[in-house]
Amino acid sequence: MLKLQNIGKKFDQKVVLDNINLDIQKGEIVSLLGPSGSGKTTLLNIMLGLTKMDQGKIIFDGKDLTHVPMKKRGFNIVFQDYALFPNLNAYENIIYGLKNKRGKISEKEVNEYIAFLGLIPHLTKRISELSGGQKQRVALARTLVTKPEVLLLDEPLSALDGVIKESIKTRIQSIAKEFNLTTIIVTHDPEEALTMSDKIVIIKDGNVAQFGTPQDIMERPKNEFIQEFILKQLHIKRKNIYHLFGEQYA
Ligand code: ADP
Ligand code: MG
Repeated sequence: MLKLQNIGKKFDQKVVLDNINLDIQKGEIVSLLGPSGSGKTTLLNIMLGLTKMDQGKIIFDGKDLTHVPMKKRGFNIVFQDYALFPNLNAYENIIYGLKNKRGKISEKEVNEYIAFLGLIPHLTKRISELSGGQKQRVALARTLVTKPEVLLLDEPLSALDGVIKESIKTRIQSIAKEFNLTTIIVTHDPEEALTMSDKIVIIKDGNVAQFGTPQDIMERPKNEFIQEFILKQLHIKRKNIYHLFGEQYA
């Protein structure tokens, strides 16, 4: 279990995270949902160990990770911009993180992840030759082969659209379930959060405004902000869909 206790963070005197408390169970897909600038990426980077928190604790499986450096935490991330190396091909990108860690994963397992993500036909391509969805899959593979204890994804769908977005969403869900991998996803899109997670954390003013299942949040939004943020956006989307596809989507 991953426990965040009283996490606080300021940037230049401005409180970004005030007092975040969360319990995340093994194998759960949890979305951190909130408007732009609400501190989601900051919280993800704090979990990773990339950003230092000002106060609070991170406990993982009973072990206090608060002062454990990023490399020793065993978590890994896919950054919002993927951060792939343009001078390496897809395969070289995927195995990059294994350079000093041979033994943790066999070549057979690496190939299984590659096949699972449908990347076999793309391995020798340069990054500039890949589509957005292919880049995202390479970034996911590169992170997965390091066998993280917790998978952190920052806006994994925001650069994708349509069918590709749906297919990446399904892949992320099947990875989490197949490998029983605790997966934390940052998103500003209520629809994404509602359709891909077991639980949703809504962040507002540096605090957890609500933590619950998609059903909890849809049926029992805790306050007006949540009602507005979630339901209004979904309503707008439904109206767009209605215009495009007709009445059965209203
Ligand atoms: P989100 O991911 O929810 O959009 P962020 O965590 O990126 O939000 O940012 C939250 C707030 O913290 C924003 O106001 C942002 O400008 C500020 N912030 C983030 N990183 C830094 C930083 N390294 N230095 C100063 N301010 C930062
Ligand atoms: Mg962000």
